[in-house]
Amino acid sequence: MSIELSVLGNAGQDNAAFVKIDTGQAIHRLLFDCGENTISSLEYNEILSIDQVFFSHLHMDHIAGFDGFFRGLYARDSKKNMIWGPNHTARIMQHRFCGTLWNLHHIMNATWHVHDILEDMIRPYRYELSDAFENAYLEPKKPNTGVVLKHPDYNVQAIILDHKTPSIAYIIRETDHTNLEPERMKALGLQPGAWVRDLKNPNFAAEILMIAGKSYPVKALREELLSTTRGDSVAYLTDFILNQEAVDKLRPALQGVRLMLCESQYLHIDLEMAERNYHMTNKQVAELAAKSGVQELMLFHISERYNLEERQQMLTETQKIFANSKFPNHWEI
Ligand SMILES: [Zn+2]
Ligand SMILES: [Zn+2]
Repeated sequence: MSIELSVLGNAGQDNAAFVKIDTGQAIHRLLFDCGENTISSLEYNEILSIDQVFFSHLHMDHIAGFDGFFRGLYARDSKKNMIWGPNHTARIMQHRFCGTLWNLHHIMNATWHVHDILEDMIRPYRYELSDAFENAYLEPKKPNTGVVLKHPDYNVQAIILDHKTPSIAYIIRETDHTNLEPERMKALGLQPGAWVRDLKNPNFAAEILMIAGKSYPVKALREELLSTTRGDSVAYLTDFILNQEAVDKLRPALQGVRLMLCESQYLHIDLEMAERNYHMTNKQVAELAAKSGVQELMLFHISERYNLEERQQMLTETQKIFANSKFPNHWEI
């Protein structure tokens, strides 16, 4: 019952994030971006089990490692192959799919679903290995309500920001857990049974529950026996300018998020360069974290121009504004 986020890649190099949601009953694996040499640090079995790939945008430093990922999974038919990103993701992915020679494809079957996330809608395309990915089949469009992926165990919110091209920030939230308090159940003289499932099920609409031949009012029993544990949450933020529009979109969305993983491409003395390239500085990121009510900030996607000493300076400056800031654990800083 937690979300584990690992940054892939080192300081000053391409980065990505691998997110594992472990409910106790199932593990879901999500990959955010796929820069060069990022997934090479993952175990092969983990790569083969990735459920969803989300791209912030498709600049080369976020997609250069995709061939390695695709090589392992192109023929996967054991689960859906799902990709998400901003406008034109499907068009660019089709180039990646078709960028290799296929001549045994007609004996294989695998389907890839690529979703272009636009402000008002999600445009899903389907690609088939059996036709060498040559056709883009447009599936029914869906309205974009902000939460683009709803799984019973978690959901993913997409926020479109400005990087001189759309770039998407993602917030991953584990579903809240409903717990049965065993001591209170004992105090009422109740034994565990199938009724517990009904009591926990928010869609169970009956007003009365029969337990061992006795009737109980569902509402009162829920208040007495159930408690809620808030699901974990992490945010993946990279490659956008922190203009007023971004602040207005992000601050309410980030409220209560446990871990905000955010680019810190530039030191604040290089603000002009950050603005010119539609990126952020460490000070801007720290202030965003401080004002958004997140618990912890992790910096990544640092420009290669900075040496070890400058990266240390970056972290110290950031911590002065938002104390609970760090770099990924495996970085030598
Ligand atoms: Zn970029
Ligand atoms: Zn980038």
